[in-house]
Amino acid sequence: MKALIKSGPGEGLDYVDVPTPAPGRHDVLIRVLRTGICGTDLHILDGNPWAARTVTTPRVIGHEFVGEVVATGAGVGGILPGQLVGAEGHETCNTCVNCRADKKHLCHAARGLGVQRDGAFAEYVVLPAESVWVHRPGVSLDVAAVFDAFGNAVHVADAFPLRDRTVLITGAGPIGAMAAAVARHRGARLVAVSDVSSFRLDLARRAGAHLVIDAGAGPIDAAALGLEHGFDIGFEMSGNPSALRELIGAMAHGGRIAALGLPDEDVLTDWTNISLRMLTIQGISGRKVFDTWHTMADLLDEGLDPSFIITDHFAAEDYEKAFAAASQGDAGKVILDWAPRD
Ligand SMILES: [Zn+2]
Ligand SMILES: [Zn+2]
Repeated sequence: MKALIKSGPGEGLDYVDVPTPAPGRHDVLIRVLRTGICGTDLHILDGNPWAARTVTTPRVIGHEFVGEVVATGAGVGGILPGQLVGAEGHETCNTCVNCRADKKHLCHAARGLGVQRDGAFAEYVVLPAESVWVHRPGVSLDVAAVFDAFGNAVHVADAFPLRDRTVLITGAGPIGAMAAAVARHRGARLVAVSDVSSFRLDLARRAGAHLVIDAGAGPIDAAALGLEHGFDIGFEMSGNPSALRELIGAMAHGGRIAALGLPDEDVLTDWTNISLRMLTIQGISGRKVFDTWHTMADLLDEGLDPSFIITDHFAAEDYEKAFAAASQGDAGKVILDWAPRD
């Protein structure tokens, strides 16, 4: 089969023939239809320090995908050939205290699909049945392809109650923009989104943000936005240290921040802002397994449509163009097609 692999250290990826994997007793063999390119994949392409430390090579990369079940191992029940599926990309140890308490998103030994085990940027992928998510009927292939990222957005947005709250989101990449859409859906009174990219601010507008803020035009001033006491809720989605500092500065007393972005340097801030205003900062990673997945499916059934974030499609063999598009500020989600589109 064709696959996109990281062959070794340094920059670059290779589109090569590799053996088609065979499912073990508790596994599912999936024909991949479409995949979404994530920031993680861009880091792996670059071979940045995180990727050099974390990705074991050679490795088929990629974790955002939708596919069709081809075959299942003898020990698998309830998953049938032909079903449209995705998968939770973190394979957990199932023995640690958090896994045993059904808090798999807090497993300390999780292995990432396309990072420490072969991923989905390939014509076929094999996954443990317990990681597989069977989609409800009616989901579009594009939205299903980015369910993993949608799950990040939902995990952030549902960290705190949002009804009638004011929400400031720093970072309008695909996940930030989807989080804005969920915040609107949850009944937030004001959803404001900041970014340096006008393209991405436009994504935030399409998500239904009430207000977009050009982060390049100066510090965020809650009072100037009519919020004398600051924002109730913050989502840090940019991984930019100055964005997190500004978010902290723009929060109301008792404000609560869900922080998904991963800064690659230390974040220095005036801690008195956090202590005296009794702020809560909740780190967010991945998705709750499978609570967040059920919530995503419910949101789609309720009419939320995150397809606005998908801006580009490329055939898998044109991966270089696709990765170039995804690494620019003027793209949302970029989809690679692994099977012919009908
Ligand atoms: Zn991802
Ligand atoms: Zn565990």
